[in-house]
Amino acid sequence: MGTIMIVDDARLMRNIIKNSIQEDSDHRILEAENGHQAVELYKKEKPDIVTMDITMEEKNGVEAAKEILEYDSNAKIIMVTSLGQEKLLQECIEAGVSDYIVKPFTKERIISSVENTVNQ
Ligand SMILES: [Mg+2]
Repeated sequence: MGTIMIVDDARLMRNIIKNSIQEDSDHRILEAENGHQAVELYKKEKPDIVTMDITMEEKNGVEAAKEILEYDSNAKIIMVTSLGQEKLLQECIEAGVSDYIVKPFTKERIISSVENTVNQ
């Protein structure tokens, strides 16, 4: 119930996140495959929640998350990270992202992160 933008440069990962989220509830899903697209699409569609991969070419998730939060300080962004990205993740937390999940994650984990973030 709401619009969720999934940002990841890997289509497989976008599909995993999309399928997990859609099992939970009937969300409208938008997709972006790099940080540039993510910022543009955010401004156009104002999604309720964003899941943001950290490592992408053409503007990574850290820069994109910061730009989105500068544009809309109420943006709700869940970072999708891997082990070894703690430094970048810390930057995102300081910039004001809502939550983060670490790959590989379970379906339950992404669903509970989305639900908690919606209710923040
Ligand atoms: Mg990636």
